[in-house]
Amino acid sequence: MSRFLSSKYASLVPYTPGEQPKILNVTKLNTNECPFPPSEKALAWAAAHTRPLNLYPELLCGDLRAKLGALYGLGAENIVLGNGSDELLYFVFLAYCDAQHGAAFPSISYGFYPVYAAFTGIPCLEVPLREDFSVAPEDYFGLGRTIVIANPNAPTGICLTPAEVETILQKNPDSVVVIDEAYIDFGGETCMPLIGKYDNLLVIQTFSKSRSMAGARLGFAAGNPALIADLNAVIFSINPYNINSMTLALGLGVLEDEETTRKNCRTIMDNRAYTVAELKKLGFTVLPSCANFVFAASDRIGGKELYLQLKERGVLIRHFDKDGISNFNRITIGTREQMDILLQNIREILEEGV
Ligand code: PMP
Repeated sequence: MSRFLSSKYASLVPYTPGEQPKILNVTKLNTNECPFPPSEKALAWAAAHTRPLNLYPELLCGDLRAKLGALYGLGAENIVLGNGSDELLYFVFLAYCDAQHGAAFPSISYGFYPVYAAFTGIPCLEVPLREDFSVAPEDYFGLGRTIVIANPNAPTGICLTPAEVETILQKNPDSVVVIDEAYIDFGGETCMPLIGKYDNLLVIQTFSKSRSMAGARLGFAAGNPALIADLNAVIFSINPYNINSMTLALGLGVLEDEETTRKNCRTIMDNRAYTVAELKKLGFTVLPSCANFVFAASDRIGGKELYLQLKERGVLIRHFDKDGISNFNRITIGTREQMDILLQNIREILEEGV
C-alpha cells in the first residue's frame, strides 16, 4: 500500500478469485467456467456483427436487452447489462444500500458480497444457513435491509424454489431483494416470472457459466423498469460504455444459438450426476447441487489437504478456509474426461493415504 491510498481503504480485504493459471495444461475445475467454448455459429455471428472498434460501443445495447427480455417474457426496459454480473452486484450495493439501509445475505455464500459491503461502507447482516446448508427463507422476513441471495447458492449449489423466494419478497415490500441466478441454468427454476408481480425484485444472471463467456465479461439484471433506471443512473455516473463492442456482438451471437447453450447445460448436468455418484462411492458427502459445481467433503482426507494434493497433480478445485465449510471443496463440473481425471486422482490420493 502506498502512503497516498485514502485512509478509508486502509483496512480493505479484497476478494480472492480462484487461481487462473497462464498455462492451461491443468484440469481446471476451480472457477465454475463452462468447459465448452462459444459455438462456431456464435463466433461467426459475432465476427460479422462487431461494431468497428475505432468507434465507442453502442450505448444501452438495445438489441441485446430486447433479445434477453424476450427469453423471459420481459421487454428491453426490464434489462440492464453489466461488465460481468460482478459489476452489477457492486452497483446494487451502491444503489440500494447505505448506512441506514444495510445489506443481508447468507453467511456462507458468494465471497464478493461481504467485500462489496465493506468497500462501500455498508453494514451487513450475515444470516447463518440451516444445518443442512440450505437457506431458510423465514430468516429474511422483515429485515429492513437489501437482501442478496445467490440462487442456487454458492458454494453449496442448493436452490430455493420461486415459491420460497416469493415469501421473502412478500415479507420485504420496502426493500430490494436481489436474486443472483449465476447458476440457474443447471437445474434450478428462475424467478424471472415474479418480476411482473414484485417491484422490489431484481434478478441477476451471467453469460459466464451456461453461455461460455466468462472471458468476455457479460452479465445482466432484470427487474421493474424503475429499478433498471436506477442502475442505469449509476452506470451513467461511472462508465456508460461498460459493455465493449466485441462482448456485445458475442452476447448476441450466443443468443442466436440457444440450442448449443441448452445442450451444454444438459451435458454438464449429466456429468454432475455421474460425478456425484462416483464421489459418493468413494465415501464423500455431496450436497444436492443445482449448479455447475458440487460441494463435497470426505471423512478420509481434509478439504485443504485434498485441494493441495490435487493441485500438485495438476487438478485445480476450490477450497475455502472458512469455519463450517473448511472440510469441503467446491468442484466445477467439466467434461466427462475432466471428471474422470479428477476422480482417478482422488482414488489414488485416498489409496496412498491408507
Ligand atoms: N454470482 C455468483 C454466485 C458467482 O459465483 C459469480 C462468479 N464467480 C458471479 C456472480 C460473477 O460472475 P460474472 O462476474 O462472471 O458474471
